[in-house]
Amino acid sequence: METSITQALRKNGFTVTEFDTKQAAADYLAESIRGKTVGMGGSMTLGALDIYDRLAAANTVFWHQVTPGDEVCVQADNAQVYITSANAVSQEGYILNIDGRGNRLAGTLMRKERVIFVVGENKLAGPFPEALERARNTAAPLNAGRLSKKTPCTVDGKCHDCASPDRICNALLVFWKKTYWCDSMEVVLIHEDLGY
Ligand code: SF4
Repeated sequence: METSITQALRKNGFTVTEFDTKQAAADYLAESIRGKTVGMGGSMTLGALDIYDRLAAANTVFWHQVTPGDEVCVQADNAQVYITSANAVSQEGYILNIDGRGNRLAGTLMRKERVIFVVGENKLAGPFPEALERARNTAAPLNAGRLSKKTPCTVDGKCHDCASPDRICNALLVFWKKTYWCDSMEVVLIHEDLGY
């Protein structure tokens, strides 16, 4: 049965496809993306789907987690298709992401045939303030820890709105609705806990 968040996302112009497992979602992505340039954002969720090699077999894929550097991020941002996760999805159907470099946000904003947010159900939040809280106080500290940043949140797991040179939270992007520049914005919702 369709959840209220799914209904809200659809009302906001996002396509929603739902899967019970990450394997089923990975099969769907591999089958539905072919012959394209594809950018991938930094994401534990995409790593868990183990999708890079399957996409690269049928597309030209740019992912800085495989080829580090700024140039590959620019190529990813300019690809026809961009795949990332989200830090939170609110009850109103808003999609939130926080970024340090900004490449992941740019990839979802630049003109695209298709932007895909792959989201585990642990990313589903309540009303917008709770989603923002999740992005700032759950996802960001865990990501800072994953990246071995020297920030106060890696010590106690809470955001201190730090002034650290290692700060990873420099921009927040909230999609209230699908943007005009993207032909399709899709949430691939997986009924498993994935990523942060
Ligand atoms: S602003 Fe600083 S303390 Fe807060 S989550 Fe980001 S890196 Fe951690």
